[in-house]
Amino acid sequence: MRIMNLADRLTVVAGDRGIDVEAASGGAFSSDVQAAYGRWDELRRWAASQSASDMEAAPESRVGSPSPRPSQVFAVGLNYKEHAAEGGIDLPASPMIFTKFPASVAGPFDTITLPPGSVDFEAELVVVIGRRAYEVAQSDAWSYVAGLTVGQDLSERELQLQPPAPQQFSLAKSYPGFAPLGPVLVTPDELDDPDDLELGCLLNGEQMQQARTSEMIFPVPRLVAYLSSILPLFPGDLIFTGTPSGIGWVRDPKRLLGEGDELVTYVEGIGTMRHSFRAARRPVAAALGGRE
Ligand code: ZN
Repeated sequence: MRIMNLADRLTVVAGDRGIDVEAASGGAFSSDVQAAYGRWDELRRWAASQSASDMEAAPESRVGSPSPRPSQVFAVGLNYKEHAAEGGIDLPASPMIFTKFPASVAGPFDTITLPPGSVDFEAELVVVIGRRAYEVAQSDAWSYVAGLTVGQDLSERELQLQPPAPQQFSLAKSYPGFAPLGPVLVTPDELDDPDDLELGCLLNGEQMQQARTSEMIFPVPRLVAYLSSILPLFPGDLIFTGTPSGIGWVRDPKRLLGEGDELVTYVEGIGTMRHSFRAARRPVAAALGGRE
């Protein structure tokens, strides 16, 4: 099954056709996209019995995040060896976790406002949880996953790396729009091998990142097992699974995002997001009442 957030309505997608879930179910299921994860198994059974009708051609601007209001958003630092190497950092023994606050979630074709500083890209596979997961075994972990989507872990590097330790990873990766997701959520059974998907991103048409999720140091089942060994994961929660090498901050010269840039991010078998950027109208210091 593939679902999409189309103009804030839960839509099951089949090719270029779609089912408006609330209308087609006579109100048995809500149009609320986030509510879908609370009844995920029921929704899947119902969707399997439906045939798609013609979906109104929808402008990309009406496509939203497939999990617009997650209760928790986890992200993994250093989950690809080459990315650890480019940052000059030793490989972690267990997943290194930070959060992106839920206020940063955005859609797959939004225009994102750049705060002052050095904003960088991180193409990532994103896991969406489908049922409460607590103390889950690795061998069972995929059954707790509703599906996979494409994400960007946008990061303002100056705040992120500001000393002293511990640094501001979570805030620096949580400006509005810094966690765009989409355009669809795909259930794992739709993919030939959900543990081996190409992902990457292009900045103004130039390939910046390209890797396979099979290169992860901690694959999806290990991440679900590790996180759920510490705290429960709830339906609709997100796990940003880490970015491969090629980020802009460590390039020489650096390649950071600026007004007018176009960033295209994809995961094989899932889809492609496209983002444009505009500069914030005034510096943060001025917004906070500081000097202009
Ligand atoms: Zn990341």
